[in-house]
Amino acid sequence: MSKDAEFKTSRINPKFRYEVVKVPGGENLLHCFQCGTCTSDCPVARFSEKYRPRLIIRMAQLGLKERVLNSDFLWLCASCFTCTDRCPQGIEVASVIRALKNMAAMEGRIPDVFKVILGNLLKTGYIYEIPESRVRRREALGLPPLPKVNIEGLAKSLQNLDIKRFLEVSAQKSSEAKIWV
Ligand code: SF4
Ligand code: SF4
Repeated sequence: MSKDAEFKTSRINPKFRYEVVKVPGGENLLHCFQCGTCTSDCPVARFSEKYRPRLIIRMAQLGLKERVLNSDFLWLCASCFTCTDRCPQGIEVASVIRALKNMAAMEGRIPDVFKVILGNLLKTGYIYEIPESRVRRREALGLPPLPKVNIEGLAKSLQNLDIKRFLEVSAQKSSEAKIWV
């Protein structure tokens, strides 16, 4: 065995696939027989040479946990469910990918943009801060004011999801090196 092959083998976590099937949405991971229909119909794959749902599924099956959970490409999925409609094995591909995203998120591995969105949500109740100029423009156009958000109620709901801990973990992780697909 070459040194390179040894290195790759050491990256394999054979238990990973069983971890995935226990996560809601990931149950059918092992049913994939790699026909490639999901990739050929995926609208995101049409625009990105690197985004391949079939490949993500295969890497998860093979136990390449670090590569899958650290991959930014995982987050390109638009959750359009085209793959789920087309899979001949009846696999909810979009749900498997969502399960993998959830696993990555639980370990704080999320792209910075999602951290910013979450931070804005906690602070303002909106996923992005609405500039004062936009509010004035709405008034000038005679549009109704934006709905007021119950920040306290929202914070309580998010507390149940442990969002703050999740943001703390992801802040620790952001300095770690990434492994790309
Ligand atoms: S369409 Fe279904 S069986 Fe085919 S590669 Fe995608 S997930 Fe696997
Ligand atoms: S749900 Fe995600 S992987 Fe499936 S077709 Fe849509 S963008 Fe592609």
